[in-house]
Amino acid sequence: IIEFDRVDKSFGDLLVLDELSFRVDPGERVTLIGPSGSGKTTILRLLMTLEKVTPKADPEREGGVVWLEGKPYSHMEKKGALVPANEKWLRQRRSRVGMVFQQFNLFPNMNVLRNVTEAQVHVAGRGKEEAEAKARDLLELVGLAEKTGEYPSHLSGGQQQRVAIARALAMDPDVLLLDEVTSALDPELVADVLAVLRDVADTTSITMLCVTHEMGFARDVSDRVMMFDGGRIVEQGAPDAMFSEPQEARTQDFLRAVL
Ligand code: ATP
Repeated sequence: IIEFDRVDKSFGDLLVLDELSFRVDPGERVTLIGPSGSGKTTILRLLMTLEKVTPKADPEREGGVVWLEGKPYSHMEKKGALVPANEKWLRQRRSRVGMVFQQFNLFPNMNVLRNVTEAQVHVAGRGKEEAEAKARDLLELVGLAEKTGEYPSHLSGGQQQRVAIARALAMDPDVLLLDEVTSALDPELVADVLAVLRDVADTTSITMLCVTHEMGFARDVSDRVMMFDGGRIVEQGAPDAMFSEPQEARTQDFLRAVL
């Protein structure tokens, strides 16, 4: 469902992703792990269209394109060729992608219910009743059925993050991107949020791509773990194998430091 085809990304002289290629299949749960600065968040930011891929220095080089559902995502087709996507294309395509950030980014001036209905009504064009029914179902799933009338400032960080998860799911995205969603939480709230994500993984077939420092979550929820270093995939595999018998020295060192 997601394909990175020899994607480059640099910030000035710093090459963060170096001809990176990988695929994520529909319904797959993939976790990205690796040292700080290895490019994990950059991958999610490209999928959130918060960053653009860096064009190949040599125009003869092929690839450099992000694909979603078999259609170009970072690019669009024009007269049979792929050209960098314009804003309109990106806006339309990114509505298929749900995102949950480290900082919950809820709308502070809207109550919980409206946080979860707003985009359904104004972006997806759903009627108010339909949007509210969907929001209530999802708020139930994340354990916040009692909080629909509260404002974000009256919720704990963990509760806010659970609203953010419901809000992302409300748009029926094809892919859910989770960017270190527990890093800003007090330790006692982390377990609740992880439990909700486990529920989401167990009760839906949504494709998930996560960046996390929670190795327990990576182990429990993912089908595949990808270890990054220096903008490249060092090693990947099923979580059990990756955690118990990492093959590459860099993975071994990383896991020894974090586990
Ligand atoms: P962490 O685990 O610390 O979040 P990460 O693997 O997610 O790290 P990225 O956030 O993708 O790493 O960053 C990769 C590299 O790109 C880092 O060296 C970072 O400093 C650099 N970088 C990221 N965004 C920018 C930016 N907007 N401008 C300049 N450099 C950037």
